[in-house]
Amino acid sequence: METWRLVDTGARSGAENMAIDEALLEWKAEGRIPHTLRFLQFSDPTVLVGHHQSVEEEVRLDYCRAHGIGINRRLTGGGALYWGRNELGWEIYISRKDHRIPSRIEDLYRKMGEAAALGLRHLGVHAYFRPRNDIEIQGRKISGTGGTELSGAILFQGTLLIDFDVDEMLRSLRIPTEKLQDKEIESVKERVTCLKWEFSGRTPSIRAVKVCLTRGFEETFGVRFENKPLTADEENSLRAKLPYFSSQEYVFKTRNSLPRRKTVSSLLKAPGGLIRISIAMDSKARVINQILITGDFFAYPKRAIFDLESLLKNSRATPSKTEEIIRSFFSTEKPKIPGISESHLIRAVEEALQKIDLLPEGFSEEETHHLFPVLKPFKEVRRPEVLLLPYCAKEVECVYRNSQGCEECGRCSVGDAAQMARSYGMDPITIQNYEELESTLRDLKHSGVKEFVGSCCEPFYGKHRPDFERIGLSGILVDVERSTCYDLGQEKEALTGRFENQTHLNLSLLQRVLEYCHG
Ligand code: SF4
Repeated sequence: METWRLVDTGARSGAENMAIDEALLEWKAEGRIPHTLRFLQFSDPTVLVGHHQSVEEEVRLDYCRAHGIGINRRLTGGGALYWGRNELGWEIYISRKDHRIPSRIEDLYRKMGEAAALGLRHLGVHAYFRPRNDIEIQGRKISGTGGTELSGAILFQGTLLIDFDVDEMLRSLRIPTEKLQDKEIESVKERVTCLKWEFSGRTPSIRAVKVCLTRGFEETFGVRFENKPLTADEENSLRAKLPYFSSQEYVFKTRNSLPRRKTVSSLLKAPGGLIRISIAMDSKARVINQILITGDFFAYPKRAIFDLESLLKNSRATPSKTEEIIRSFFSTEKPKIPGISESHLIRAVEEALQKIDLLPEGFSEEETHHLFPVLKPFKEVRRPEVLLLPYCAKEVECVYRNSQGCEECGRCSVGDAAQMARSYGMDPITIQNYEELESTLRDLKHSGVKEFVGSCCEPFYGKHRPDFERIGLSGILVDVERSTCYDLGQEKEALTGRFENQTHLNLSLLQRVLEYCHG
């Protein structure tokens, strides 16, 4: 039977683990090492952002620095991860041309995920692969997977949660609540599991876990593994790479977020992940000076996104030009970005660009980050008939907190916004819970209302955007101020109208939007 190599590199720092990834991938691409399975752990708790993510957007930097949590950047795409000292990583280095490697990316994910799930079943848990790239036990994720490719060599890796500290993960990461798309799952804690929970508080030995995972890969690929440490040359190669992978330049600068005061942005959730677009431009010449496409997606090859950014840089900042560039890039380069099509990228860029039209109307770049379109470009929302106001902005003690209406007593921003709406001939409607929002939007549509303006927070928009689009009433949403239910982890309470904090409507921005739509 064919023999592959097994390397257990033990607990290392984030930078060392990333340096080993690159060294082994390069060596595999050069044909210098056999097909290899590596097990890895982290010597300190570490946050790893995906290759295309911005650290500032994904990581609570102050918290991580204050608590000694390392920060690094993976070679692979996907979302930010928190790794405790107990978690285990596995990686396969293999040639793309090996006959056991499927040609379609989706099939590669399935084969690798099923191999690891098989290994976990040998350990005694009911683990199964869940497309696109998770391993779950009864609906709860225990492992995420992903890969990258270099000159015909594949690095495919997975995490395995063993004794996971969910609270520490939530404190370390800015979890994009837009990811919690399924309405029935409102809490991150309900979405994950780890081996310790599956074994009722008893953590299996790390050795047993590695033996079972190895068996899963052996049976899937029809090979046996032979344990061999890193060679002296491989250790030297990783040491040479260490300064780069330890540098701020690598961890932060490659995806450094653009200053919000000088950019326009958009946020789009596609099946393959969140796409964030940030564009700095010369608004007079209408030219893109810089563009950043970040998110938790996977791209093959991983430089595809950087190449697309370079093509868009210095181009005319118009939807037709950017669409032409993106389409031509996809047809010539044929990048594979699972779950993200060229149409998603075209739409995301277009939504950022349409904010440029707001600048001559007196909106600042910073203000445009707080405006979200529903179904139509901003400039096409003309004379909206209703203003929807969220109950979370009502005073907590107000008798109307849980019921329709407002006396406009002046104690909170809702009364001021209601008066503002009437001065534009609009009907103010307060919304008490999520069900009421859906039914109100539907009723308005049936009664012939064409457009609305409303107020909600960015995470709510990101999460419920598909719901707004499904209902089909177009409009503009304006971000609320102060801590929202999402900041406080109370989105479940908020959906049913039981959020007990008070947000504040951004009245000056709301006023500007109403002026713009009725001008
Ligand atoms: S302005 Fe309206 S919502 Fe606010 S406290 Fe007064 S009655 Fe309640």
